[in-house]
Amino acid sequence: EGKHNLIIVSNRLPLSIKRVDGTYESSISSGGLVTALSGLTKSTQFRWLGWPGIEVKSNKDREEVSRTLNEHDATPIFLDSGLAHEHYNMFANRILWPILHYQSGVVFDDGPWQAYRRVNELFAAAIAEAAETGTLIWVHDYHLMLLPELLRNRLYEKNKHCAIGFSLHTPFPAGDFWRNLPVRKHLLEGLLSSDLIGFHTDEYKQNFQDTCAKIPNQIRYKNRLVCVGKFIVGIDPQKFAHTLQNPDVQDRIRSLEERYKDVKVIVGVDRLDHIKGLTQKLKGFDSFLEDYPELRDKIILIQVAVPSREDVKEYQELETELSTLAGKINGKYATPDGTPLLYMHRSVPFTELTALYSVADVCLLTSTRDGMNLVSFEFVACQEKRQGVLVLSEFAGAASFMREGSISFHPANTTEMSEALYAALKLDPDERRRKYEYLRDFVNTHTSAKWGQTFIEKLSQRCRQPGKAC
Ligand code: UDP
Repeated sequence: EGKHNLIIVSNRLPLSIKRVDGTYESSISSGGLVTALSGLTKSTQFRWLGWPGIEVKSNKDREEVSRTLNEHDATPIFLDSGLAHEHYNMFANRILWPILHYQSGVVFDDGPWQAYRRVNELFAAAIAEAAETGTLIWVHDYHLMLLPELLRNRLYEKNKHCAIGFSLHTPFPAGDFWRNLPVRKHLLEGLLSSDLIGFHTDEYKQNFQDTCAKIPNQIRYKNRLVCVGKFIVGIDPQKFAHTLQNPDVQDRIRSLEERYKDVKVIVGVDRLDHIKGLTQKLKGFDSFLEDYPELRDKIILIQVAVPSREDVKEYQELETELSTLAGKINGKYATPDGTPLLYMHRSVPFTELTALYSVADVCLLTSTRDGMNLVSFEFVACQEKRQGVLVLSEFAGAASFMREGSISFHPANTTEMSEALYAALKLDPDERRRKYEYLRDFVNTHTSAKWGQTFIEKLSQRCRQPGKAC
């Protein structure tokens, strides 16, 4: 293990570049993919290629950024800001993301699509240059669906033989929905040039296969065999266990416990995104307070809404809607003794996040669609003492593995959400322990390291024996 020559590709590099006093500095950025792959860095070496997130114009500056990133085994693919905006905000996040998450009313626009193609081509050129025969190339996520095909063509021209793996971190929707996208055929063809395609759940894998052809686990395309599989992404639970032992975090936990000693804490942590069902969550919480007035001063919902995609109009509108809703709820239920909702529109440092997960009695996640949802894993990883309850939307990818250990509900049904929350708060201790242990075992056995190793092992088999049945 760990000996493979491996390239990982994602739209954004996991390092954020900043210009400080005339030079460039890099720091680890946040997000689900970085979380998932951080476990892998312990056991496997790889080079990471992607866009550094800022525009760097002159050759001299580009060299400097490359040098800075190179210290972290990362290689930048430079894009000018207009192109990056059209690709990332206008196509990937405004057109593709909503369709992958079953949102209707998406308007296709050709300009952004051309930018998407162009960026995928630029990536293909850079990676074909960096790879050698035998390199395993693992491409991540919906920003780069055309890449496997473009890359395969480039590698072919250069006479380099590499295996290409692709992991999708969003749902893959049912065929009927996928059809809404007029360029769906190009995207499928792009993906089908992979040797191995990974999905988070059997449902997503099945939707993809139904869309392609009805052959179990393998698809023949342009006389090549494409394998598809489910690979369960997870977190690095040790990182949380370790952070929880930090004396500052322990202090913070004690002070939060003191602060909230008379109430049950319900926690929510979500990027501010339509798919997280935050509007539904606040409305559901409002009905809960309406339905169970005796609990109004006995609970608090601490909702962290992490700023996201703030350049996209729909995301700005959602932010306005949520702060209005939060204000209404507090206007309605606050008393001089306190308020049942604490809404934070900002990101929180990792140590604070672990403390928050750890003092919560319930974690409420209401995604209307969600590739996996790693917050649910992280909550469990911080609950050894409290053994709290996970209330999880049936539409999160994680729900297909965690149903037995959580309380699930339909996120658009406010009554169901309110009842699920009530059931969680009143859950009998034995059942609560049973559920917790089920989730703990799942989170500990399905780690990010295991995910990465399993995918790479399978991809390297494909590299050695491309013709072998999957
Ligand atoms: N997270 C973060 N900043 C915060 C709060 C949370 O980066 O202020 C992390 C969180 O710990 C988790 C990730 O963001 O690892 C969210 O991953 P998830 O799979 O739940 O959702 P995604 O944002 O990828 O849709």
